[in-house]
Amino acid sequence: MSRLMISVSGIRGIVGEGLTPEIITQFAQAFGTYCESKPVVIGWDARVSGDMVHRAFVAGLLSVGCDVIDLGIAATPTVQMTTKELECGGGIIITASHNPIMWNGIKMLASDGLFLDAEQGEKVLEIRNKKTFAFKPWDQLGTVKKLNTASAAHIEKILALPYINPMQIRARKFKVVADCINGAGCVIIPKLLEELGCDSIILNGEANGLFARTPEPLPENLTAVCQTVKQHGADLAIVVDPDSDRLALVSEKGEPLGEEYTLGITGDYFLKNQQGKVVVNVSTSQLLPDIAREYGCETEITKVGEINVTKHMREIDAVFGGEGNGGVIVPDLHLGRDAIIGVALVLQHLSSTNETLSEIKARLPQYEMVKLKIQLDENSNAKAILAKIQEKYKNEQIDLIDGLKLIRDKSWVQVRASNTEPILRVMAEAPTRAEAQAMADELREATEALAR
Ligand code: MG
Repeated sequence: MSRLMISVSGIRGIVGEGLTPEIITQFAQAFGTYCESKPVVIGWDARVSGDMVHRAFVAGLLSVGCDVIDLGIAATPTVQMTTKELECGGGIIITASHNPIMWNGIKMLASDGLFLDAEQGEKVLEIRNKKTFAFKPWDQLGTVKKLNTASAAHIEKILALPYINPMQIRARKFKVVADCINGAGCVIIPKLLEELGCDSIILNGEANGLFARTPEPLPENLTAVCQTVKQHGADLAIVVDPDSDRLALVSEKGEPLGEEYTLGITGDYFLKNQQGKVVVNVSTSQLLPDIAREYGCETEITKVGEINVTKHMREIDAVFGGEGNGGVIVPDLHLGRDAIIGVALVLQHLSSTNETLSEIKARLPQYEMVKLKIQLDENSNAKAILAKIQEKYKNEQIDLIDGLKLIRDKSWVQVRASNTEPILRVMAEAPTRAEAQAMADELREATEALAR
């Protein structure tokens, strides 16, 4: 992976090896100009390098006349909600999401609190490339206002949702292990659990950005949290990524459920209470669409990427949706992946059913997913390879929303080009791991043969 990636969705880079104050400030000037010098909300995910990136970005915004509403350390969903509520020109989150500690980056939000789409991001890039910045004289520079109530407001809005009953959750006095990976979750998750009367055991709860483990909340990175559940006899564990848009769950048995089940379990509670349209991306498990069907709800499918999911949710007035990697979206609250609402929905589900988390999982449809990567040569053409695969499998049911997906009975396998690396990603899902593995291997072998 290159050390600095500048794209329509923002910047991501390694600090000291590409991600420098010059690059950051220039990007901030472009973003502030794109926002027509209106106020901008900013928050960061507690990364060690966040202070440097934050100051450089703020300087750029002030120089083009944007007032800055500074939330300090805040979760991505908190910044999204605040941007919309305060009717700002846009919002910025300083984060490299689940990337390791040496990385940092910028996520950009439009005035509606949604991520910039490709067209909007293109406009920011154009301003940056042409250097058409709206610099202001000394008496028209922006000013910084600190706002330290955004996380509390986020919690308050969740607890006020009609299908969240804080009294009922409090009565259960859940014992919850929470791993906040020393990221933005530290400023909101413990407070939410306290409000919900939980006896919490917080791991990695200091917002100092020193990630004690690989930050992506995949099962293989969660051994310590699983052990803590068993040790304390907890009801469950919740794990977030550094900017708290993704949520993973661990059962009372100390078993990671896999991020796909976050959407299934929260959706199972949500759709039982409120029916309507559901949206997921094309790489998400069949789990939520299956559950939605049980409740008489239709599911629509989009390309991968939060903005593709949220824009479509708005278009069709969906009530629930998300991305399989633990990204729960509840439009009643806001149109963005939100681990905090995810936690509230899980606790609500447990308290309404009197089931354990592993019992809830056991009665949902059972799926296993296998993910593989195929390394490409620098000069190989992913599009041409996909066209050959399409020809080879032309007699099967094929979906071309994003890459190529073969849909078989109760299972599917997909191959798509990575946006950031010279690789093809292969994902397969089936009722058993063996079936998923066999399908992933089959498509990998076919792809490798056709790529030669
Ligand atoms: Mg994230």
